[in-house]
Amino acid sequence: MTEGYIKFQCNWEAEEIHFPEELFLSLEKERSMLYQLSLIGMYPDGIGFGNISVRTEGGSFLITGSATGQFPTLNQSHYSMVSESDFEHNSISCKGLTKASAESLTHAAVYKALSEVGAVVHVHCLWLWEKLLNNYPTTSGEIEYGTPEMALAVQSLAAKMGMSDENIIIMGGHREGILAFGKNLEEATLQIINLYNRYRND
Ligand SMILES: [Zn+2]
Repeated sequence: MTEGYIKFQCNWEAEEIHFPEELFLSLEKERSMLYQLSLIGMYPDGIGFGNISVRTEGGSFLITGSATGQFPTLNQSHYSMVSESDFEHNSISCKGLTKASAESLTHAAVYKALSEVGAVVHVHCLWLWEKLLNNYPTTSGEIEYGTPEMALAVQSLAAKMGMSDENIIIMGGHREGILAFGKNLEEATLQIINLYNRYRND
């Protein structure tokens, strides 16, 4: 990380959260499609990647927790509720038996930018990222993952884009990182799956 970088701070309340079973099943359905395509998963070094979130009441959102990438299926304890995010101080407040990752800030950025967004999906895929880089709205290559600048860049890009048929942001300085958003989870996931299928055989 760049010198002077503000370390990510997670104000975590390690307490069980409950959310509707229907919402859980819908998150699991979308997540498992992404997992099967290895768009969410774990690198050989044990680091997990990819996360999905859905907007909930009161300005909060529910997101797959930190270090859950390796699991084919999750249970409710693997999710975290993010209630606050502060880009300037690179911090979030969350609650759940699993804490939310630094990437939650990027999700928060999209929700802040566009009130119509109901869900955000973040995946990693090198070949797709390389194909889409600078062909879709792309954040500057100078801006690194996990920095306040990335959250601010995503927020301003999303605000500029608005909602369209293809709500995709390529994270230029986060190699492999792709974001999709939509009115709901199905729509956000479909954005990624469609791109994956369209470019797979190129
Ligand atoms: Zn990422």
